[in-house]
Amino acid sequence: MSLKYEVKSNEKLGRYLVAAKDLKPGERILSDQPFVLGPNSDTSLVCFNCYLPLISKFLVCKNCAVAPICPGEGCTDQFAKWHSQQECNFFRNLKLNKGTNPMTLVQNVGSLLVLRAILKRDFNHQEWQLFMELETHLDRRRESDVWDFYDNTVKFIQSLGLLENGQNKDLVQKICAAIDVNSFEVRGPPIPAIGCAEVLRGLYLRAALLAHDCIANTHVSINDRNELVCHASCDIKRGDPIYYNYTDPLKGTSLRQQHLMIGKYFKCTCARCSDITELGTYMSSAICPQCKTGYISKNASVWICNSCGKETEPSVIEHKIQCCVEKLEVINKKDEKDLEEYIRNVLLVLAPNHYLLLDAKQRLAGVLRDTINREPRPTKKLMRRKIELCREILPVLEVLSPGICRTKAITLYELHATTVQLAKKMFDAREISGSTFVDELLIAEKHLKRSLEMLVIEPGNSPEGELCAKALEEYRALKLTLAKVIDGIHAQGKTYESESVSENVPLHPEVD
Ligand SMILES: [Zn+2]
Ligand SMILES: [Zn+2]
Ligand SMILES: [Zn+2]
Ligand SMILES: [Zn+2]
Repeated sequence: MSLKYEVKSNEKLGRYLVAAKDLKPGERILSDQPFVLGPNSDTSLVCFNCYLPLISKFLVCKNCAVAPICPGEGCTDQFAKWHSQQECNFFRNLKLNKGTNPMTLVQNVGSLLVLRAILKRDFNHQEWQLFMELETHLDRRRESDVWDFYDNTVKFIQSLGLLENGQNKDLVQKICAAIDVNSFEVRGPPIPAIGCAEVLRGLYLRAALLAHDCIANTHVSINDRNELVCHASCDIKRGDPIYYNYTDPLKGTSLRQQHLMIGKYFKCTCARCSDITELGTYMSSAICPQCKTGYISKNASVWICNSCGKETEPSVIEHKIQCCVEKLEVINKKDEKDLEEYIRNVLLVLAPNHYLLLDAKQRLAGVLRDTINREPRPTKKLMRRKIELCREILPVLEVLSPGICRTKAITLYELHATTVQLAKKMFDAREISGSTFVDELLIAEKHLKRSLEMLVIEPGNSPEGELCAKALEEYRALKLTLAKVIDGIHAQGKTYESESVSENVPLHPEVD
């Protein structure tokens, strides 16, 4: 198979990947095994072999007598193993020559990833070379708190004799930096019966070369064997840079830029960041206090209205927005009433697709989903509200994450599920005709199909992969229901005729 990408480099992006051919949405661009994988720097104790959290007790590896590993039957075969033979021998020598105690490693579990990276130096020279070429922004880190933060890691690595012969301590800082700047979040193995997992960090040498843009053209997933797979999320033309979004697309520009500056040391100048309307979503804008209809957005330090053109005093509006931020922090985000009240109040201040509102709406849709699934007879009102929320969120996702997008797939799935539920409830109560029921089911089918087209690239054992399997089953069931209802219409001597004018017109707007 010919390579789908080429490595290029320029002043602005450093080394980056471009498409070596035209790529279609869903096409696999690359897959990558981690160069190193391990716990975060502020982690609690995990097994050195499989990264399962070690909650109360642990054993030490039989061979080296140093590495803490799973107690009882030991690590299950289900997960990849990370305590390599080379590492085990290295620990064994430490034990024999320096009397290193398992507690030393327990106390320094946050430095394990760095230790594993430095051990690669001796065992995999070629990969080590590539690792050393990654972006680190070392000069900027030298002046920041992060340098002192990693002082313990430097001391730990030194104490293991890995920096002997006058080797530069900066090497450890450089490793810390390369990991911080280039790694991906990886879900660790879930604790059996509890399900929660440690968030790990994985460094992937090829994927590390993906340049950032706040509107990505790729979709990245990591399977339960820790393999990273990158797919095109939309059409990519030959020669176009391949972009991954390192930040949360559902946050406003100032938050995204802050995140990129702190974590990745650069100021993003992508199309979205350079546009005060954030591609027409007005995701960081407020309602103009003067004309009350336009949206004011921040241009440099000035807040200016897109409708009346007037400026608003920054301190006034920024204070109001800050109040909305703080209010969202303190309300009960699992409570329907709290969220509804928040949305009602904030809609008077912020633009309708402001990221705070989207956040509250997503949470509310989640709360409603749980209520609808839990209650034996959920009301039509609840279902309609959930449908409305999904419909409000989707167009924004369409702009900010064009093509394949995980949140979009889940939202479409939820929209389909509630559409089916509501239509069924109304049909059973004879509130709608067979033909209208069919119309609604066809709308739901369309959403479900789009959701499936995106979920199908998710790894089988991830939560999204499981949702894909469930969605596929529901797709089959939906097809059967449709056939049955149409048969029922024919049995009455009628024919099915589409009654809905447009899927965007919600049917039956009357209240319960
Ligand atoms: Zn284990
Ligand atoms: Zn061992
Ligand atoms: Zn950007
Ligand atoms: Zn105005």
